[in-house]
Amino acid sequence: MKPQTLQSMCPGVEALPDSLCFLVQSSHDPKIGYRVDKSAYWGSGSCSCDHFRFRHEPWLKAGKTPGPKYRCKHIEAVDRYQAIEVSQLILQHRQQEANANRAENGKRPLRYDPELPAY
Ligand SMILES: [Zn+2]
Repeated sequence: MKPQTLQSMCPGVEALPDSLCFLVQSSHDPKIGYRVDKSAYWGSGSCSCDHFRFRHEPWLKAGKTPGPKYRCKHIEAVDRYQAIEVSQLILQHRQQEANANRAENGKRPLRYDPELPAY
């Protein structure tokens, strides 16, 4: 099985230097990118696309609770990206802890097999 990266699993999503901002490529025109800012609306996020700005954002500004109903597909793409990123960080952390424990007990580190459930 080909190794997968966050980028290969979430094509069109690019994390910007500020880790809560992302550039998401338009599915219709790859030359167009929308900026998703996950610091907006208590972490639910905002997007620069017209669909979010005119359909969803007015409800959020009026006090609606952020949720799936008030997200565009660009925010959904970033949510998926962040979910996988967090899972990968947890897996890396567990791997490091397991190998530190093995080293303490004089054992060689285990090779991580991403196709198997971790622990
Ligand atoms: Zn959008």
